Amino acid sequence: MNTTQIKQKEVSTIKNNVTKVAVAYGDGIGPEIMTATLRILEAAGANIKAEKIEIGEKVYVSGNSAGIEKSAWETINRNKIILKAPITTPQGKGYKSLNVTLRKSLGLFANVRPVTAYAPYVETNFAGMDVVIVRENEEDLYAGIEHQQTQDVVQCLKLITRPGCEKIVRYAFEYAQAYGRKKVTCMVKDNIMKLTDGLFHTVFKEIAAEYPNIESNSQIIDIGSARLAANPKNYDVIVTSNLYGDIISDIAAEIAGSVGMAGSANIGTNVAMFEAIHGSAPDIAGKKIANPSGLLNAAVMMLSHVGKTKIADTIKNAWLTTLEKGYHTADVFQEAISKELVSTSEFAAKVIENLGNQPTTLPISNLAAGNGEIVIPTYKRKNQKQVLVGVDIFINWKGTDANIIGDALCNIEAFNLKLKMITNRGVKVYPEGMKETYCTDHWRCRFVDINAKIDGEKVYNQVDFEKIIALQSSLHNEGFQIIKTENLYEFDGKRGFSLGQGE
Ligand code: NAD
Repeated sequence: MNTTQIKQKEVSTIKNNVTKVAVAYGDGIGPEIMTATLRILEAAGANIKAEKIEIGEKVYVSGNSAGIEKSAWETINRNKIILKAPITTPQGKGYKSLNVTLRKSLGLFANVRPVTAYAPYVETNFAGMDVVIVRENEEDLYAGIEHQQTQDVVQCLKLITRPGCEKIVRYAFEYAQAYGRKKVTCMVKDNIMKLTDGLFHTVFKEIAAEYPNIESNSQIIDIGSARLAANPKNYDVIVTSNLYGDIISDIAAEIAGSVGMAGSANIGTNVAMFEAIHGSAPDIAGKKIANPSGLLNAAVMMLSHVGKTKIADTIKNAWLTTLEKGYHTADVFQEAISKELVSTSEFAAKVIENLGNQPTTLPISNLAAGNGEIVIPTYKRKNQKQVLVGVDIFINWKGTDANIIGDALCNIEAFNLKLKMITNRGVKVYPEGMKETYCTDHWRCRFVDINAKIDGEKVYNQVDFEKIIALQSSLHNEGFQIIKTENLYEFDGKRGFSLGQGE
């Protein structure tokens, strides 16, 4: 089996080799927290060779709407690892999101966000919370394919792919195994989106079966996020698609109280990028009060990703000890608990002082607990028999009575195809729709073979693509405005399209 090793296992020969990293100092508080973080890494003997890259506000303002210079791409491609401080996206002028550009261009398919509560040192109602959210990063509604189809209707395509699902779900289980985690929970909405979220869930079940030592379960995203918010201690690793993951990773960070403390990783097959989850905090830039913890935690993830798990643990434990001893920056300072209000660089100095110490009340970091490596097999497509069995033709029509358009479509020359049904916003309105259903100007008209006797799951007849084209010509000539078509296929005899509500 062809595989790609994404996370290096710690072995004595690579234990403390030089790790070359493309380092972006970012904007706002970025340079302050990056300087503090790199100081700690150096003191811990992480052996990082930082190569600075120019990205962010300065690059945007110089007229580069992508916010990243060509030389930065070269450095990234050479080093494969990026440590990035937050950047400021200037308002207006059509600047592109640099994060999206980096994520998509570099194939960073997994967004990994460990969310931990540090009570009582950071206020939260959920002491003991320790959840890792693994979010798919490239697909779903974030493919950004949107169209206005009629005056009343706009559409955003939700694209879920089998290779995308396999990669992210496998990554979640491999992550659990690499870091000694016990359970992976899948969150989907496949009671409604049976094909897209259904595929994610199917792949989850297939891959979960290969990891019998890791507990697995799945939840519908709505109740899942509610339960996560109410009882986060029941979760360990969560894997989900892009939009759901975006939302629940913010819920998780917020309830843990750790928005300012959490790091995150964007992992690709060849490149990985590590950053804090917070922004560039322009309101406190230059004041020397920023908390470097989010970026430091991202750097800990980076070290463990490159196989330097023990050094990562040393730094994390020194950081936890510093929190416990009450040395706090302004954002987490609490009169009753903190011992001393420290600046960014004083905080870094305290972490360095504590290298070699372990926390006494917060859990000790043990990133070296699992098997250490993450291996993702190369995707292999299985051949399936794909048969064309009909077409959904979307028509822009300003009328409101479904019987008028339905009867008209039954009477046109249809080249051995027949109208099976019409839906409006997914609800069947013809034949035999409900008068109460509100109809827009967007009518989905399903045509199948004239002899097909379709009853629920029964097999459809094969149809000829040329007939579908002829049907469209016929509709056009009769004055119907076709705004989009969607072919209906069976794959290995299984229906590859959803039924209309009420069909
Ligand atoms: P923000 O996270 O920068 O700030 C929100 C609040 O949290 C502010 O009050 C800030 O002072 C505080 N804060 C954030 N990080 C802190 C830290 N380390 N220590 C102490 N306090 C901290 O969010 P925002 O104000 O909405 O965004 C500011 C800029 O950052 C925007 O231009 C936005 O586009 C950008 N941004 C960048 C990234 C990134 O590069 N990954 C992420 C989010 C936002």
